[in-house]
Amino acid sequence: MDLSITPIPAFTDNYFWLLERGGTAVVVDPGDAGPVERVLADRRLVLAAILVTHHHFDHIGGLKALTARHPVPVYGPAAEQRTIGALTHALQEGDRVWLAPLNLELQVWEVPGHTLGHIAYVGKDPRQQNSGAGFVLCGDTLFSAGCGRLFEGTAEQLHRSLGRLAALPPATRVYCTHEYTLANLAFAAVVEPDNAAVREEIGRVRELRARGEPSLPSTIGHELQINPFLRVEDPAVVVAVQRQSAIGASSPGEIFAALRRWKDGFRAPISP
Ligand SMILES: [Zn+2]
Repeated sequence: MDLSITPIPAFTDNYFWLLERGGTAVVVDPGDAGPVERVLADRRLVLAAILVTHHHFDHIGGLKALTARHPVPVYGPAAEQRTIGALTHALQEGDRVWLAPLNLELQVWEVPGHTLGHIAYVGKDPRQQNSGAGFVLCGDTLFSAGCGRLFEGTAEQLHRSLGRLAALPPATRVYCTHEYTLANLAFAAVVEPDNAAVREEIGRVRELRARGEPSLPSTIGHELQINPFLRVEDPAVVVAVQRQSAIGASSPGEIFAALRRWKDGFRAPISP
């Protein structure tokens, strides 16, 4: 039986990703126990482990109630162990997480920026080892057509973290933890009005959202086409950021920082 990865929608725009194989499940960033318990009951799944990417409450709020009912290992960043509290396995760069019931190994990457201790889990479905079709559980670091806000880290840190993710094989599926895609695309279209891939994606995602379907997962290859934060070396992005921010010749890191500030102050025009 194949590994499946499906979203549990929660709050207004969170997704708790559920990794599942043969009746066993692992949940990522459960900010609330209720929606997770309902899915486990509906699909008659046994919870085997919990993965955490960072310590924000909408990613860890369900830990206490879930571990009270399911005494399972909880993996998360060592650097945020004190604030998360419930970790049984504190992880650092280069660690590997072996999830035996899923026959799945995940690599741990430290991807600071959104928070200082933020980690991502990089996986490869063992059945697809030769296709290169891996996936990444990237929390609030990379979003489709956008990236996380700088709550704790620097623009330089987030730029480097996103650069690592962007270097994954293009077919790598990207599981972000928020449905921010349409709002991000509205900004991407202002940065790059001539980017046809962005325009097409707005139409595609509008249709998906109208049907109540998630816009995720994305892929690294797709993000390289539509995500301005992965395109800070593209001449169109460079020119747009320089004009908006009134800055001259700039390094990619400086363009990235100015782009992030621009997005922080951006309010999407209200569409009818
Ligand atoms: Zn967060």
